[in-house]
Amino acid sequence: MHEVLDVAVIGAGPAGLSAAVHAGEQGLRVALIDAGIQPGGQYWRHPDENHPVDDEAHGHHHWKTFTDLRARLKKLRLSGSIAYSSHSQVWFIERPAADQQPWTLRINAVTDGRDNTDSSRVVRAQRVILCPGGYDRQLPIPGWDLPGTMAAGGVQALLKGHRSLAGRKALVAGTGPFLLPVAVGLADAGAEVISICEAGDLSGWLKNTTRAAQMPSKAIEGAQYAAALLKHHIAYKPKTVVSRINGDTEVSSATVSKVDAQGRLIVGSERTVEVDLVALGWGFTPSMELVIAVGAQTRQDVDESLVAVVDELQHSSVENIYIAGEATGVGGAAMAIAEGELAAYSVLIDMNRRPAHSRIRSLQGIVRRSRAFAQAMHQAHPVPKHWTEWLTDDAIICRCEEVTYGKVCQSRDDLGAQDARSVKLLARPGMGWCQGRVCGFATAKIAAEIEGRKMRPEDLVSTHKRSLTSPVTLEDLGTPDN
Ligand SMILES: Cc1cc2nc3c(=O)[nH]c(=O)nc-3n(C[C@H](O)[C@H](O)[C@H](O)COP(=O)(O)OP(=O)(O)OC[C@H]3O[C@@H](n4cnc5c(N)ncnc54)[C@H](O)[C@@H]3O)c2cc1C
Repeated sequence: MHEVLDVAVIGAGPAGLSAAVHAGEQGLRVALIDAGIQPGGQYWRHPDENHPVDDEAHGHHHWKTFTDLRARLKKLRLSGSIAYSSHSQVWFIERPAADQQPWTLRINAVTDGRDNTDSSRVVRAQRVILCPGGYDRQLPIPGWDLPGTMAAGGVQALLKGHRSLAGRKALVAGTGPFLLPVAVGLADAGAEVISICEAGDLSGWLKNTTRAAQMPSKAIEGAQYAAALLKHHIAYKPKTVVSRINGDTEVSSATVSKVDAQGRLIVGSERTVEVDLVALGWGFTPSMELVIAVGAQTRQDVDESLVAVVDELQHSSVENIYIAGEATGVGGAAMAIAEGELAAYSVLIDMNRRPAHSRIRSLQGIVRRSRAFAQAMHQAHPVPKHWTEWLTDDAIICRCEEVTYGKVCQSRDDLGAQDARSVKLLARPGMGWCQGRVCGFATAKIAAEIEGRKMRPEDLVSTHKRSLTSPVTLEDLGTPDN
């Protein structure tokens, strides 16, 4: 029989790392399970620690916070307080059979051919802190399936994790402040970045100055990026989108168009730009598979993403399940770190221990201010209302199953599909290997649009609902309790 731990933390990004370290330092017995090869998540993705590089901190913010947490994690592992499984994913969470019984987490190694001697197959814990983070949000456009088109986060992951350039001559396009570090990172590494095409008109920031002012550090970061854009001669073009990507076997150029405030293409504004890389980013989508698997309540956030409902101490609506980081709403690393620490204290409180009230209040202040800033950011950088007008019938929506926009529309016109789930069943977007992680948001948006209504939370729940949260082998399925 397995030992029952006090708490299992899923995800070792800013939220999970912070949660696990603070829980471990308070004397709790902790399991930290992360699909990443090394801790840090998306924000602190860095080169392989087995082959240290001199400039490990290059391109990172709050690196000292990370190295401090990493050192504390190491100490806690050595003392036996934290059992850390890297390169391991939780593919199933089993509810306790009765009150007072633990949650059971089923875990397998991430399959990329590496050994993973560290991962145990089953972890049992009285409480679980979910910190699964998120991934890039994508909007399909004609030609986005050509090699040379990448998610902005993927481009950055290559830079941060491998010091590799995804291309030599690039456009960075989409919406939101995340386009800035991607463009600057590319230019710092030697690429020619022609411009950042920002779909929004930025007036949203002016409407939300009070909220935006809650995080003065972000203004300083913004000014640093503005200086870097000037240094690298990168043009920043608001109300501009990449509306088509061109090439025979790979990207050779992109069509850049101006858009109005609603995202409609302005006829006659198109021009062609020769590039070999287009980095696309439309914000982030929280990973909701585990949140939905445990039955926690969700809501639709300002950026239209599905997120988990939590209270001021990171409790979800399900007993003994706590949620922190991107899954509670896309809000940046500082918020994720604070929420992770709060979740650890919340567990302590629920175990009748007494963490310092003043620290809890201060963390709640960080979360409140970060959330207010994030809302201003989301309102200033919405998904363009009329984005689907850029699509042609042959534009691929689901890359795994090669489902075109025409096929999606046909599922409505000929087969009567009225929501994202019916579109998925009849036209197959989201049925492939990635299970809708890439096209799920777009499919839900298109399904709502063709019905002439706004997207609803239930449109998104169906894209995140999976009995198993990641692919598993038959051996994993058939092995009950190893
Ligand atoms: C691609 C990308 C690039 C980004 N770059 C920047 C940037 O340059 N600047 C910036 O300010 N913000 C950036 N962000 C946003 C920032 O990373 C987040 O705000 C922050 O990382 C949130 O921390 P987190 O701990 O919630 O999630 P994450 O950092 O996403 O960490 C979540 C962790 O959980 C793991 N996980 C998920 N599901 C499972 C599972 N089932 N089993 C085991 N492990 C699991 C993941 O592998 C990951 O390691 C980026 C986000 C993304 C997606």
